[in-house]
Amino acid sequence: MKAIRIHSPGGPEVLTYEDIPMPEPKAGEARVKIDAIGVNFIDVYHRTGLYPMKTPFTLGVEGAGIVDAVGDGVTEVKKGDRVAYAMIPGSYAEYAIVPAAKLVPVPESVDTKTAAATMLQGMTAHYLTLSAYNLKKGDTALVHAAAGGVGLLLVQAAKMVGARVIGTVSTETKAELARQAGADEIILYTQSDFLAEVKTLTEGRGVNVVYDSVGATTFEKSLDCLRPRGYLVLFGQSSGPVAPFDPGKLAGKGSLFLTRPSLAHYTLDRAELLERSGDLFSWIQSGKLKPRIEKVIPMKDAAEAQRQLEGRKTTGKIVLIP
Ligand code: NDP
Repeated sequence: MKAIRIHSPGGPEVLTYEDIPMPEPKAGEARVKIDAIGVNFIDVYHRTGLYPMKTPFTLGVEGAGIVDAVGDGVTEVKKGDRVAYAMIPGSYAEYAIVPAAKLVPVPESVDTKTAAATMLQGMTAHYLTLSAYNLKKGDTALVHAAAGGVGLLLVQAAKMVGARVIGTVSTETKAELARQAGADEIILYTQSDFLAEVKTLTEGRGVNVVYDSVGATTFEKSLDCLRPRGYLVLFGQSSGPVAPFDPGKLAGKGSLFLTRPSLAHYTLDRAELLERSGDLFSWIQSGKLKPRIEKVIPMKDAAEAQRQLEGRKTTGKIVLIP
């Protein structure tokens, strides 16, 4: 079968499109014939080695397709089921081996591309708004990179609970997309000082929560955007990792809370995974959440997808087709 493999970390050029043996599911595992693959920023970190992986490996952690074979003792799924998953390595391939307990059923009215496009980033928007910080009506949230993959879904999830959303983006085109997703105010953080703008928009009070996926270039000012006892939910580092940090600053800036969450710890067991993915698919079915699939491209062009994502050229999601 065909797969996108990495033999040593590096730039997009280290991705190779090659033939590898068809994998067989062991006990507790299922083999999924992949119909659509979600591209995520974590794929870039796996490629560069920021999140180290044992080489060689097949890139990608998100996909959707049909169960094609199951190993011994599998009860969660059966051959022929349409399923999706996230956070399991090896999805840039024609077939993937996935622990059966990590697969979720995809409802008939949600197409496979949409499932592959939303499992990781949609469940992330779900836990960021409902669990990492319990966002409420009347709260004001600052969402960085509001037209990104997580960003557009996060803006919509925050509006669902009735929060006021201030988004940051780098271009006018992205601003328009974030507004369409429901953002109340947009700051072009590449052209103006987002801290000053947030202070003006909140009459000096600051926001209840900052959702920061950008990291290095935004972290310090994100803290300063918070009102006393506000939450900085630092969930990514698209601009680079945040430098070491003195927790004493949290007291000085208003008894702030800082968390660095990961989806893995908000889908700890099967019940939590099914609850989050179930809510996600019902939001999509009811039209409350409108995913934006910007591009659907052949898997063999995965390197180009990575260049665009890293180069800030994408809005919403890129989906690969094996
Ligand atoms: P995005 O679609 O958000 O792409 C990254 C965006 O970040 C860009 O489009 C850009 O938006 C912004 N950005 C700002 N500075 C830079 C820079 N120097 N280089 C590149 N991009 C920059 O990606 P994802 O939605 O896939 O992921 C966003 C982040 O969230 C990643 O760090 C990812 O790992 C993390 N993440 C974490 C999860 C968790 O559970 N902790 C789950 C999912 C994602 P603009 O041009 O508007 O500035």
